Amino acid sequence: MSALIESKALTKHFKIGRNQIVHAVDDVSLAIEDKEIVGLVGESGSGKSTFGKTLLGLHRKTAGEVYFEGEQLPDIYKPADFQRYAQRIQMIFQDPYSSLNPRMTVGEIIGEGLRLRGDSEGAAIREAVAVWLERVGLERGHMSRYPHEFSGGQRQRVGVARALIMQPKFVVCDEPISALDVSVQAQIVRLLGELKDSLGLTMLFIAHDLSMVRYVSDRIAVMYMGAVVELGPADDVYFEPKHPYTQILIASNPRPDPRSERNRKSVAITGEISSPLNIGSGCRFANRCPHVMEVCRADTPGLILRDCGGSPREVACHLYEPIAGPN
Ligand code: SF4
Repeated sequence: MSALIESKALTKHFKIGRNQIVHAVDDVSLAIEDKEIVGLVGESGSGKSTFGKTLLGLHRKTAGEVYFEGEQLPDIYKPADFQRYAQRIQMIFQDPYSSLNPRMTVGEIIGEGLRLRGDSEGAAIREAVAVWLERVGLERGHMSRYPHEFSGGQRQRVGVARALIMQPKFVVCDEPISALDVSVQAQIVRLLGELKDSLGLTMLFIAHDLSMVRYVSDRIAVMYMGAVVELGPADDVYFEPKHPYTQILIASNPRPDPRSERNRKSVAITGEISSPLNIGSGCRFANRCPHVMEVCRADTPGLILRDCGGSPREVACHLYEPIAGPN
């Protein structure tokens, strides 16, 4: 397998006032393989949505590089770049209502990308829209309706159809289920999983609900204060979390499986969240970590392969010894 999209030391800082800098994303290197789904999880404010938007050029990066199919993506997108990459890269947004133009019919919304691309006749676009409405569990007859006539889950299905009708190779799903009821969340996650299998999609799936992310992802990356602190196969990270932050995140998330719920260890959260302003050296989780050591406050742990007692895991934590050799 080879990486379809890869960030190298991607960094996004926001300047506040004269001297303060918010470290929204810091030095994140993440390679997503072709036809792979990587789930990106973390509390709100951890930088995961900013990472997704910076990856796609919706935020101008502060530093780092992004490669798509081996080609470096531009720092600033020109209109021609948007047109070129929109065919291969798409985004599904968090709030299905605000991301759909209320004055356009669902048919116009879903078919807009094809129209802008200019390679289809009106009748062909209508037929493609009808096919995609059915593919996402809606009906052909919905084409002439407006977004306000649909429920939240149905609107998110429209958002999915609008993105996937372009037949992209890579999709960023930015908290696509956060605004939905729990029962509808499961339906959308199942739909995305089915479409991933049938279309061979590559995805970055951003969410804060680990149990939903695990269902759809091949690997999970855990983000804390703008940095990835753990990365590994989805089930390994979910059932055997190694970083203390991942352990806390999972401990605070009820599991649907009662057996694993019984075996779950409770982990105490201590201390205060560090400020994302003007971050210094040392582990960003040190103020909240129940295992903090002296070295943690002085030396920033890198996200590298470490000996965690089972299979090696990429973890940014001094509790585990680095494994020698190339990662
Ligand atoms: Fe805790 Fe230290 Fe590991 Fe940070 S590096 S998570 S403070 S043990």
